[in-house]
Amino acid sequence: MVTYIRDMTGRFQQRPHYKPEELDRECESLITKFLKELYGEVRYPIVTDDLTKLIERDASDLDIYADLSHYGPEVEGVTEFRRAEKPRVLIAAYLGTDERRENRLRTTLTHEYGHVHFHGYLWDIESPPLDLLRQQPNRDKIICKRDSMIDAVQTDWMEWQAGYVCGASLMPKSAVLALCRIYVETHGLYGAVSQHTSHGSVLIQNIVNTFLVSEEAARIRLIKLGLLTAAAPNKTLFD
Ligand SMILES: [Zn+2]
Repeated sequence: MVTYIRDMTGRFQQRPHYKPEELDRECESLITKFLKELYGEVRYPIVTDDLTKLIERDASDLDIYADLSHYGPEVEGVTEFRRAEKPRVLIAAYLGTDERRENRLRTTLTHEYGHVHFHGYLWDIESPPLDLLRQQPNRDKIICKRDSMIDAVQTDWMEWQAGYVCGASLMPKSAVLALCRIYVETHGLYGAVSQHTSHGSVLIQNIVNTFLVSEEAARIRLIKLGLLTAAAPNKTLFD
């Protein structure tokens, strides 16, 4: 059950408020259902082509070769909304044409999918007033910069939600927990692991390899799930 609170950004009267665990649950259910329909089973990593299939299923159009340079140098994804229509997703062309940027392409696709799935309906229930003078040409678009794909400040609620959805969809919670549980038990560790230890590095690398994400995306996801801590390792009496 989604709760609604006042939208302080002024875009809508009210906006949906999700707890992280609600987004975790919804994303995992959405992804596992989608993968089961495709393959009859759930397997990770989600391949990049399947991320595009997911968007194509729920959006009216996906352009992964878009020129977004007129929005500014940091803009790598845009989702456009229209009342009573499915959203349209645009991804900066240079992400898809360079293999070294595959993780960024995957992150951007999944982030934009977050906008499609979690925000598209808002334009149907509460269309902003007509902008006859076209003073706000970008009002019905969400313009996403590279730095906010995985994590954003909570006050920028659309970016924060899409960033959380990105991590929760590429690295679903129960799969991450299962992987970490095995590692922690094998090594006799207790509580959250510090990211500054070798165990922290190995955990991050396991997530990178299993889910095909960047180290930064893996690190942020583990911290958000409380499995990794940004704090220094605990000192013992003998340090
Ligand atoms: Zn965004």
